[in-house]
Amino acid sequence: MIKISEDILGGLEGPEGFIWDSENYSCAYDSLLTILLSIWSKDPVKWKRDFKDMNKIMNVLATGFHHVKSNQGTLESTRNKIKHLLHQRMPGLFPYGQVGTAVNELAKQLLRSDNIIASAWQQCVGCEDESNLHNDLQTCVIQCDYDHDCTTSACLQKRFRERHPRRKCTQCDGEIDNIMCFDVIPKILVLAMSDISTSVRVSKKISFRDGGSGVVFGLKGIVYFGDFHYTARVCTGGSVWFHDGMATGRGCTYEKKLSEFTDAELSTCNGKTMSLVIYAQ
Ligand SMILES: [Zn+2]
Repeated sequence: MIKISEDILGGLEGPEGFIWDSENYSCAYDSLLTILLSIWSKDPVKWKRDFKDMNKIMNVLATGFHHVKSNQGTLESTRNKIKHLLHQRMPGLFPYGQVGTAVNELAKQLLRSDNIIASAWQQCVGCEDESNLHNDLQTCVIQCDYDHDCTTSACLQKRFRERHPRRKCTQCDGEIDNIMCFDVIPKILVLAMSDISTSVRVSKKISFRDGGSGVVFGLKGIVYFGDFHYTARVCTGGSVWFHDGMATGRGCTYEKKLSEFTDAELSTCNGKTMSLVIYAQ
């Protein structure tokens, strides 16, 4: 008997994924890179430029993806090259062997920009006195540490302007807002979740206004963590695919249409909770 899911798929090819390395644990890399590969695959010429603009390691990644497409290497040799570059820079965060790597640290370093992406400051609502927090964002990863019972879009809105819970203005004793503003709107945006942000629901789209025009980010994938292992969901062409370097390996398993998922359903996956939510323009 033919299963309905196979019937619907008929001939549709799913995204390719990275195969897990049992000698040097690679699940953090496999999950994030499978999603980045899916993003790159949509338009290799455009993304080669965008990856290159981000930093050297992302340029190496785009070149590696290109080599794989022209049968000059494997996805795993590309992954190992990225791992080697990160290990050289920060051996403590990116170790070799049968030990884990934190995927949020991986995303932060991999998606680091040579330029400032967003700047943060505090503004008094009374007298508009401003002070720079010297806390500029130089990576496409935004941490959602204190968020719960909201959506990823709301988490992000709060980063742009949020009332400070305690601090008062030294000039007029007015209330203080924490403000963040993009210097350049990045092409990829990642929200990193903490343990307490498990009740955050996943927005399928995030919209900004940049001057007069709107910028829309679409959901491209989610990395989940549980039982000392990372897995991923890849969203492409309106479909959602599951990847686990240990179980699905080179391929991904089709789940269902993105439109059929509720935003709460996307927050967990086979008992694992989400670590990263990845969007792209
Ligand atoms: Zn004031």
